[in-house]
Amino acid sequence: MTNLHVSEIFGPTVQGEGPYAGRRATFVRLGGCNLSCIWCDTPYTWDSSRFDLRQEIRPSSVDDILEQLDGSDGIVVITGGEPFLQARAVGFTDLLAGLRKRGRPVHVESNGTILPPTAVLQAIDVVVLSPKLANAGPHRGSQDPTLDPGWGPLARTREVHLKIVCFDAQDVAAAVRLADELSWPRKSVWVMPEGTRAETVHRRFQTLADAAITAGINVSPRLHISAWGDLRGR
Ligand code: SF4
Repeated sequence: MTNLHVSEIFGPTVQGEGPYAGRRATFVRLGGCNLSCIWCDTPYTWDSSRFDLRQEIRPSSVDDILEQLDGSDGIVVITGGEPFLQARAVGFTDLLAGLRKRGRPVHVESNGTILPPTAVLQAIDVVVLSPKLANAGPHRGSQDPTLDPGWGPLARTREVHLKIVCFDAQDVAAAVRLADELSWPRKSVWVMPEGTRAETVHRRFQTLADAAITAGINVSPRLHISAWGDLRGR
């Protein structure tokens, strides 16, 4: 029996963000992150100064994870934290194989700093990467938030999106520069408002929408914030 370090599993709910916003989804949130964004909305997956990670993150068998997912439907979103920190664990491969056997579409949300093995990538339908702009602040231990260069070529052959957290139009410009440096197809570039309060997200969405349309990229809502606020597990 193989294990993964899991923060929480919840659903069915809706995917609130990115290219599949509004789709029925169930989330597997894995523990641990190699970055420490100042506005992180899931610090309970990595921040030991604020949370007891022995309580927050549990080793869970893949069989148990799959059993929980069998009670849901829709896409399965593996997120974090940074889920690819566990990409080389046997449990990660076993989870993907179990989901494939069940015919469940698998999406992974990542900060993009880690390129997983090819066999892992081949078992994932959609990858959504969120590289960090300067608005995320410095990362603990001087961790480098730079996107792994191996992602760029993949974006031209498979469904790999960028979803970049922005506060304002200057951030949108920075997001476009980043995407262009990587020659990322603009149809797969999304900007998303920072915020965990519906009013904040709504206000920033209005600002970002105009800038994104002008730049020829996409803008993402945060539907779960609109529906439930910052309620954990929704
Ligand atoms: S990369 Fe994601 S999970 Fe990690 S600190 Fe930043 S926002 Fe939080």
